[in-house]
Amino acid sequence: MSSLLIKNADAIVTCDSQDAVLEHANLLMQDGIITYIGIEPQTADEVIDGTGCLVYPGLINTHHHLYQTFSRNLPQVQNMELFDWLTTLYEIWKNLNQDTIYHSSLTGMGELLKSGCTTCFDHHYVFPGGNSDALLDAQFSAARELGGVRMYASRGSMDLSKKDGGLPPDSVVQNVDKILKDSQKSVEKYHNPAPNSMEMVALAPCSPFSASEELYRQSAILARDLGVRLHTHLCETIDEENYVLEKYGKRPLAYMEDMNWVGNDVWYAHGIHFNDEELNLLAQTGTGVAHCPISNMKLSSGICRIPDMLKLGVPVGLAVDGSASNDGSNLLEELRVAFLLHRLNSSKLAPSGYDLLKIATNGSAKILGRNDIGSLSIGKAGDLFMIRRNRLELVGADLDVKSMLGTVGFKGTVDYTIVNGKIVVKEGHLTGIDEEKAIYNCRQEVNKYLNH
Ligand SMILES: [Zn+2]
Repeated sequence: MSSLLIKNADAIVTCDSQDAVLEHANLLMQDGIITYIGIEPQTADEVIDGTGCLVYPGLINTHHHLYQTFSRNLPQVQNMELFDWLTTLYEIWKNLNQDTIYHSSLTGMGELLKSGCTTCFDHHYVFPGGNSDALLDAQFSAARELGGVRMYASRGSMDLSKKDGGLPPDSVVQNVDKILKDSQKSVEKYHNPAPNSMEMVALAPCSPFSASEELYRQSAILARDLGVRLHTHLCETIDEENYVLEKYGKRPLAYMEDMNWVGNDVWYAHGIHFNDEELNLLAQTGTGVAHCPISNMKLSSGICRIPDMLKLGVPVGLAVDGSASNDGSNLLEELRVAFLLHRLNSSKLAPSGYDLLKIATNGSAKILGRNDIGSLSIGKAGDLFMIRRNRLELVGADLDVKSMLGTVGFKGTVDYTIVNGKIVVKEGHLTGIDEEKAIYNCRQEVNKYLNH
């Protein structure tokens, strides 16, 4: 049995059902699970001195496209909206291969870990040349290489290309049979549904303008057969709404509902353009939304109705979205931007800084269907991050440690990140890899990829 103790932390913000904050407390993890939180003395194989530190539950990212880490900040797409942005970028993404996926995943997940994120859901849907297995293999091997990030991958998919009225070029789509066979294989190979699982897989057709009705229907049947979750982009833009209205004669959520794509095993990325009736349907069915404020602002997509969703009880989590529309992988930054965006848009009805922290932890865990992560209490997974409070920029800000990450924000790299009871960021550096070497290798790879 391996054990890790955080001794005498200044404050442990648990985000538990009591919203408890424990002062001068110890937190013990044994074999990846939290077995003690409180003020009684504890011993362990390894001890971190928590004096002067604030401890938070690991943040949970509910929507990403790690492959896009190598197509961020490209000048040619900086002032575009979604459809033009996508059609320009598909021409780059069609050159993705296993090496690009491995290195871009390492870069993106490395940044997530360094900014306090311990679980990463990735929506990968571009499979050029059809070698599907190899791309998910590359993602899981990057996660393992980092020494442990709780990896929730997806077997994403696109089958609706330009020739059939979709948006992507023919070179990046696959047929439904191939997608379903590979989906089943990926789930069988990687999906571990047990509590404290480090590797899971969802099925995730990309969007209504790149996946056919048949693909959505069959994916829902297969996912429920296999007991895995369903994810897709929905209601991101008015262009998407008009596309679905024109092609299928109904609004996007009605289209999804007809294909059995609502329920508490489904969550959508973005979910911006829902009307009142549709928000009620999401709440009644437990269908979740991954909120990606930076991406939505960057692509001028709109503002997700988070205050209304929270009021109605729609499950909501936080996410960075792909790096081509962010252009980074920092969930702490996302948390503060979400706070500010909704203050601007909804004033008194906006979620508080602490509400946003709970959305990024409890809320995200719920839409991923997990109750083993998202708060710090006995029996939960040992996923957390730590910040030293003796920084000039935190003086006074840390009087309210619960709301600080939303209202004031935390810039820079966290001091420690722990996943599954194991230190993966120590003194601000990744422990699983040689960062200097990784930066060099990833730079080589991004240059090769973009100069293809
Ligand atoms: Zn996305």
